[in-house]
Amino acid sequence: MTISWQSIQQEALDCLRALVRLDTTNPPGNERIAVDYLADVLGTYGIDSVIREGAPTRANLVARHPGTDSSAAALLLSSHTDVVPVERSGWTREPFSGEIAQGCVWGRGAIDMKSKCAMDVAMMTAMKRAGAKPNRDVILAAVADEEAGSDLGAKFLVERHPELVRAGYVLNEVGGFTVHLMNRRFYPIQVAEKGFVTVRMKVTAMPGHGSMPRSDTAISRISELITKIVKTPMRTNISPFMRRALEDMGVPLESPGPLFAPMLANTASPTILRAGYKDNVIPGEATIVLDGRTLPGEDPESFMAELRQIVGPEPTFELLKSAPPVQASPDTPLFELIKQTVEAADPGARAIAWMIPGATDNKYYSQLGAVCYGFSPVKLDPQMPFGALYHGNDERLPIEGFFWGLRVYAEVLFKFLGIRFDQVFA
Ligand SMILES: [Zn+2]
Repeated sequence: MTISWQSIQQEALDCLRALVRLDTTNPPGNERIAVDYLADVLGTYGIDSVIREGAPTRANLVARHPGTDSSAAALLLSSHTDVVPVERSGWTREPFSGEIAQGCVWGRGAIDMKSKCAMDVAMMTAMKRAGAKPNRDVILAAVADEEAGSDLGAKFLVERHPELVRAGYVLNEVGGFTVHLMNRRFYPIQVAEKGFVTVRMKVTAMPGHGSMPRSDTAISRISELITKIVKTPMRTNISPFMRRALEDMGVPLESPGPLFAPMLANTASPTILRAGYKDNVIPGEATIVLDGRTLPGEDPESFMAELRQIVGPEPTFELLKSAPPVQASPDTPLFELIKQTVEAADPGARAIAWMIPGATDNKYYSQLGAVCYGFSPVKLDPQMPFGALYHGNDERLPIEGFFWGLRVYAEVLFKFLGIRFDQVFA
């Protein structure tokens, strides 16, 4: 049985809107409501779901569509169902309505990333209905807790239930959206993401009475160190694919600007500053927390050694948490297929391998040996930049761009899985 392309578009749109209406703001998450809905939709077409909770109400769903060759490395389609909080005063529409207006679906999660979840569900159910057998297993994962570090989501599944999500390839978020730059269009495809190293830095000095001022105190010392950290660039290290990407985009490597500079070096942002406890006491210690982000090839030790060169021998470092950077090769048949399909669907545009400065669930899936890409295609107009929508006020998704992305996604998937497009869609 084939399915009309029109109806699969409508189904994906309905699924997205239904997901947006389920408030899965994290904290507290409550992803169970999204997972129950998804299990229902999948169940309608005879697809069984496995549900695993990292904690009560923090549910993860995994479903598998078996392929003809169970020994071939599986393809995992992953999305997270939690969303970041909204500041209602900044919204012009109800953030959990899934309302359609001005050609867009409005609401938290429309871009990040309930739209990808809806696309994954549409592809799984379409394959099932059409009786299409992929050349490998296809796994759908809809996971909890990505927006708060993934402890109860992808990390939990990878550590506690690896057999459910072990795959050769993963398609996940942050990639495949239109970037308009100097009248040209680009589609960054995430092949790498930075690691993070969170460090508490402490200085001490003689405490004293506030009525007896001194120039040298813990507060003045930490202030000087903060100034040094924010004013000293960390050393540049440009990976081959980032060099190619920036050259393609016409970004000058020697002055990349604040948008691109974080992809070319480790970075350290002071995010929490603490000192003092009483208004007439000069405190004896002061601390800052640094949000450090590391390039592929770096680890906490190399990051702290570089930081040490900037701040000198005085402050103590305490490593609070860290996660490694991830890098997948862009030289794979899957990447090539993504690139060709995107460029054919938007003539004149370029798809490029890209690294993001933040973290996604790919950090965890890659620990099981998967080649992980960020590919959640959507076509965006110049007046609707991804950066402003992502975690922003009035998050919304243009429906035409979503349908364009669904088509591109389906073409990539089915070609990769050895399924003829017209065997599934009419
Ligand atoms: Zn996300």
